[in-house]
Amino acid sequence: METQIRRLDYDKIDDNIINEAGQILRNGGLVAFPTETVYGLGGDALNPESSEKIYAAKGRPSDNPLIVHIADKKDLYRIVREVPEKAERLMESFWPGPLTMIFYKNEQVPETTTGGLDTVAVRMPSDRIASALIKAAGGFVAAPSANVSGRPSTTTAAHVEEDLNGRIEMILDGGQAVIGLESTIVDMSTEPPVILRPGAVTKEMMEAVIGNLEVDKAIIAPDSGVKPKAPGMKYRHYAPRADLAVVEGTTEAVIAAINRMAEQDEEQGKKVGIIATDETAARYARGTVFSLGERKHEEEIAMHLFEVLRDFDDTDVDCIYSESFEEASIGPAIMNRLLKAAGHKVIHV
Ligand code: AMP
Ligand code: MG
Repeated sequence: METQIRRLDYDKIDDNIINEAGQILRNGGLVAFPTETVYGLGGDALNPESSEKIYAAKGRPSDNPLIVHIADKKDLYRIVREVPEKAERLMESFWPGPLTMIFYKNEQVPETTTGGLDTVAVRMPSDRIASALIKAAGGFVAAPSANVSGRPSTTTAAHVEEDLNGRIEMILDGGQAVIGLESTIVDMSTEPPVILRPGAVTKEMMEAVIGNLEVDKAIIAPDSGVKPKAPGMKYRHYAPRADLAVVEGTTEAVIAAINRMAEQDEEQGKKVGIIATDETAARYARGTVFSLGERKHEEEIAMHLFEVLRDFDDTDVDCIYSESFEEASIGPAIMNRLLKAAGHKVIHV
């Protein structure tokens, strides 16, 4: 199939293109589109065949449920059995935005969309192209990240094209995704609610609105053998082709250790990659160095993480060392993705 690519301008979103894309979704086809988190691979969430096409296009295991995207808060009540009062308060504060909530589903939502679960994950994105597309498609768009399963999520239309060209009907190009990491996921079907995936809406931000929240143990202690409650969190993810290790310690110790390891690796004939920041990049004497941006602006680091992981796949490095990041605000979400990409290989210095 030939994939149509349509560029959209946020200052003047072209209704004709949105309607064309909406029609593809209504007919059971697939359209990738920008959201404020990462690009999504959309299909009609209420059409079981569309979900099956999504799993096939991504090469995603079909027990890994899809997030249903809506454009109007009222539509939530059409697909779930109940909305707890705490979820209503989170909706008030964080929708539209990068927060996904899990509810008991009703019979409107096919089991293919939820990977056989009796719960459904729902999000209302703030991105205006996403919102217009969801409305044009009839209100309910199932959309996982628009990448081939296992690869880093996509933050530009070019990345989507790299992974999905020829497998989907259309890509809407809205430029670079501003957050760059997938949404926070919080399970509202239990009490207290449980964070299943960290993201730009942090634990502290939600606790300020609804009080105590738990964090899924599989996120805190990934080696504990605890099965994650979000099925997708159990799969290897984001992995670059080269071996990636995260180096943890004070900034000075990390720079010294990476320089030392890079020298040893090069002596053995290996090509080395380094994930650094604007403040530290010039301190590395060898290797291919890519910066994630300014360390003091965690949002910038988050926005570039997946892009840099993909950039390394276009090089011939054999191993990559990455600096690590503060565990504040969006820091836990950055570290969650980075550690997953590294298969939890950490070097403490
Ligand atoms: P992605 O669409 O790539 O951002 O991945 C969606 C994530 O949401 C995966 O980790 C899924 O396992 C998780 N998810 C979706 N629906 C549910 C659900 N009903 N219960 C638990 N996790 C879910
Ligand atoms: Mg994904």
